[in-house]
Amino acid sequence: MNKLIRKLRHRAPFLWINKNYNLEKAEDSSSFTMDSVYQSEEVLRDYAPVLRELFPELKPSKGIIESPLLFIDTMAEVLSAGKGTIAPGHLLLKADHLLPVSGSIKARGGIFAVLKVVDRIAVRENIFQKDRSFTLSESAKKIFSNYRIAVGSTGNLGLSIGIAGRAFGFSVEVHMSSDAKNWKKELLRRIGADVIEYDSDYTSACEAARVSAQEDDSVYFIDDENSIDLFFGYSVAALRLGKQLDELNITVSGTHPLFVYLPCGVGGAPGGITFALKQLFGNTVHCFFAEPVDAPAMTLGLITEKYNDISIRDIGLSGYTAADGLAVGRPSGFVSLLMKSYLDGAYTLPDEDLFYYLARLYDTEGVKVEPSAAAGCAGPVLFNTSEEGRGYLEQKGIEGQNIIHVIWSTGGSMEPPAEFEKNYKKRYS
Ligand SMILES: *Cc1c(COP(=O)(O)O)cnc(C)c1O
Repeated sequence: MNKLIRKLRHRAPFLWINKNYNLEKAEDSSSFTMDSVYQSEEVLRDYAPVLRELFPELKPSKGIIESPLLFIDTMAEVLSAGKGTIAPGHLLLKADHLLPVSGSIKARGGIFAVLKVVDRIAVRENIFQKDRSFTLSESAKKIFSNYRIAVGSTGNLGLSIGIAGRAFGFSVEVHMSSDAKNWKKELLRRIGADVIEYDSDYTSACEAARVSAQEDDSVYFIDDENSIDLFFGYSVAALRLGKQLDELNITVSGTHPLFVYLPCGVGGAPGGITFALKQLFGNTVHCFFAEPVDAPAMTLGLITEKYNDISIRDIGLSGYTAADGLAVGRPSGFVSLLMKSYLDGAYTLPDEDLFYYLARLYDTEGVKVEPSAAAGCAGPVLFNTSEEGRGYLEQKGIEGQNIIHVIWSTGGSMEPPAEFEKNYKKRYS
């Protein structure tokens, strides 16, 4: 363990295999079940006609917020470095950077969390109906305008909750950390959200939002570090991915396993997805989290088994990274504990690599992502090149060429073009 901590401290990128992984044990010790995933899917279906009204871009999908699953064979050639280590048709991009409404993986969890607040207030105000079209009435909107939603965010969660919350008529207060991008703050202000900026990190921004909500029972705080709603909102993606793999006639098995690479911040999004994927695919799915070398909060919490009781600052790291969506100091307590036996492993990578992959995704596939969202690209490479990765395949009896790799691209389509251009050019510097 000391050797690993030393690597983290020195910002040396590495692939970590989780020795505590044990699916049976994970299932025995967790109180979460697949029922909650299916129930969340049902809430989203109930709200689909409403979301379709509120967000015209959801007309083609009838109010369902979903992203495509894309083959990226040209990128596979690049990641194989001409050695053909990734077979054609074996590299897929789960393109959450294209998620409608708010352009990132937070459109799943964040919007779901707002819908749950709408439900709670409707019950509290005695206006709840299973048919959610009541939420669109002028009278409901008037009621919602008396309530406020508060959230702490490095950017994308604020965007999702701000956009969805304002659409229902809530006032919204977004507490932003210093690394949040200006364009995200500006967009939020344009749609009428209150943006409160801090000179400090993400944990402090969340704390401020939490305090603001405690003092007033008309304020609903969506807590990125502790929200079960966010977690299950994200988890629905696993059902959708399963369906998309079916539609592509891709069969997952022990000899043809699914390897999924998920950029990780506090862990809610990748944790929710991992939890549900493991229920659906068991040991035939292998989930790995990707973190910047400057903010490996989850990896640190899991390696030390201190979970959210340790911060990257405790080992001298800054948390300063271009991957603003991943720039957190501590993981979510409940998610990191859950991941102790559910997660297969994690890896870290430097910002230079994020820019490299960001540029290659654009060059090969015309895909525009933000730096955080490029972190998944290093995964397939690590299993072909690193000692730890090869050892893992050997130990599991997996033939590298049979793996179906899924890179999760978690955000980017709302970025202003100039922002993308700036990041794209960084690969040269
Ligand atoms: C938030 C975010 C993540 C990670 O989600 P967590 O729930 O914080 O782990 C990954 N990528 C992007 C672009 C994000 O905004």
